[in-house]
Parts: sequence; structure tokens; C-alpha cells
Amino acid sequence: MRIPITIPTEPIGSIPRPVALIERVAKSDSEDPDLAPLYEDAIRDTIERFEATGSPVVTDGEQRKYANFATYAVHGLPNTAPDGFKIPFSDGHTRRLPRLTRGPFRYKRYADGYLDVAMRYAHVPLKQAVISPSALSLMYPAKRIPDYSREQFIDDLLREHETEIRRCLQKGALKVQVDFTEGRLAVKIDPSGHLLKTFIDLNNLALSRFSPAEYGRIGVHTCPGNDFDSTHSADVDYAEWLPSLFELKAGNFYIALAGERDRRQVLKIIREHLRPDQRIFVGVTAPIDPHIETPEEVRDRVLEASEYIPIEQLGTTDDCGFSPFSDDTSTSRDTAFAKIHARVLGTALAETLIGAR
Ligand SMILES: [Zn+2]
Repeated sequence: MRIPITIPTEPIGSIPRPVALIERVAKSDSEDPDLAPLYEDAIRDTIERFEATGSPVVTDGEQRKYANFATYAVHGLPNTAPDGFKIPFSDGHTRRLPRLTRGPFRYKRYADGYLDVAMRYAHVPLKQAVISPSALSLMYPAKRIPDYSREQFIDDLLREHETEIRRCLQKGALKVQVDFTEGRLAVKIDPSGHLLKTFIDLNNLALSRFSPAEYGRIGVHTCPGNDFDSTHSADVDYAEWLPSLFELKAGNFYIALAGERDRRQVLKIIREHLRPDQRIFVGVTAPIDPHIETPEEVRDRVLEASEYIPIEQLGTTDDCGFSPFSDDTSTSRDTAFAKIHARVLGTALAETLIGAR
């Protein structure tokens, strides 16, 4: 008798916010108490539609993460200025991180607060994405802050990040995903690889605080960025940095693949470097591409990946969130959910085929 195989499938995180919510936030402030019912409606509707796709794991679509996946924890801190690190995108636009102006560094909010709300609506397991320490480390300015050294900042940052992950795990998140989109960008900014190594070391300092049991519930997401259908580092070859990625002490990796020019080449690199206790969720839908994948296209991408990644270490995901930045309207909610539906159906088709071998 054959034992049926299971290929887990999970989203990354964000779903485009309802246009009415984006317009209201633009008119006031993201923390305006009057917005509470709009956020609540957006979260309820997102989870309802997520579950309707058949996705076995859902998120709140990051409806409340403002202004984006990277700065939600520090948005509104009094000891920051808006002129921090610039992220350049391929279409010419930029996004900026806040700059820390004085110590001590503390999060203003932890992502488990989003889980509290989402859990009221979800009937299936929830996943929670958090920002990496390496991304937030870019908030410390090049010129030292008087009376608050970079070392003190890193201590505070790691403690805050660890606290956030622990709170999400304790609340019952099936997985906690560390968003590490700046890994690939690091190679673009510093082709010597020094910045990437700094990022990997820093994130490992944080990850090494968790036990082997927790390791299986922690993942890392990497992609070339996604904002207004534009990327920040798609031109950086995966070969230059994927080997370093698998040095991270996490049990799950969510890797953008559908939008890559040469998927087989990327899969070869993954095969060479993945470790036996790591599961690889490959991207089978591309949020950046307006074309809605068919379940058959997704199935074929899973079959292709299964030629390189052992089936017990394979999973599927979307290449990225559908709107990591809260005001990104380049993808509609309908398109996002249609792509997720295709991911779920296509992964199931592949499961059946592989199980019958
Ligand atoms: Zn991403």
C-alpha cells in the first residue's frame, strides 16, 4: 500500500489592502482609532477569502502592518527620523527606513498583536511574518549615536526580535517567518560579500537563541523585493548568496523561484547546499506577474522542483507577499487570491502524481 505524500503549502504574508482602507489611512494616520473598524473588516474579509482558497495555512494579509513589512515594529517611534537607509527599486522609485536618532532602541509593537486579532477569525492555522534583525540594523546611522553604541543597539535589537518571535510562538503561530529580503540586496550593495556575511552572522546570533524544537517552527523568506511590480535585486545571481542562506539556523526556507529566469539553475544550487533538517518552500506563483498561474502550471513547477529537492523536504509558497508595502495597489485582492487558489490546487495535483509513482 502506498502512503500518501503531503507537500505543505504556505503563503508569505501580505495581501493588498482594500482600496477604501488605503485611501482613509492616507487622509489621517495609520494609528487613528477611528480606523479600527476598517482594519477589523479588512482582516475578517482577508481571512475569509484566504480560507475560501483552500489554503491550509493563512495570514491576516498584514492588513495592519504599517507602513510595510519592515518598519511596522518601529513605525511612530519618537527617537527616529524619516531619512534612513534607502531601498532602490528597478523602476527608479525608492523606499526608506527610519533612522535611529538616540537610544535606547525598543520596538513600538510586536507582531503577535496581529495574531491576537487574526485568531478571532481564523479556522485554520495562522502563520506570522516578522522583520529580520539585519533589516532593522540598517536603522543605526553610519555616524555613531552619542552615548548609545552600535553594540548596545545590536544587543537591544536582538532581544526585541527574540521577544517578538517567542510571543508569536507562544500565541500559537504555526510558523514564524523572518523576512530577509535584504539578503540578496546586500550582495548588490556590497559585491565583496562582507555585508551579506554581517547579516547572516547577526541573524544567526538571534536564531541560535531558539531550541531545536522551535527551529522547526521558524523560517526565513528571501526574494528580490516586490513593490509596485518592481524588484530591488533580481539582477543578483542566486549562486552568489544562496549557499550563505542555508547557514541560517532555521528549519524552513521560503524562496522566490517562479519569477526567476533559470529555475533549474537555482534548484541545482539549492540541492547542493540545503541541509537535511531544512524544508524548502519554493515559490510557484509570482505576485509581480499579472498573469494568474493555472493549477497545471503550478503542478509542473512542483514536479520540476521535486527533481532536485527530496520530497520530504519540499513545500510550496508564493514568491513574495502580494503587497509588502501597505499602499501598493499594483496587484488587486482578486488577483492575489486567484494566484493563491492556483498554488493550492496545483500543489495538490503534484502531490497526487508524485504519490502515484
Ligand atoms: Zn518577499
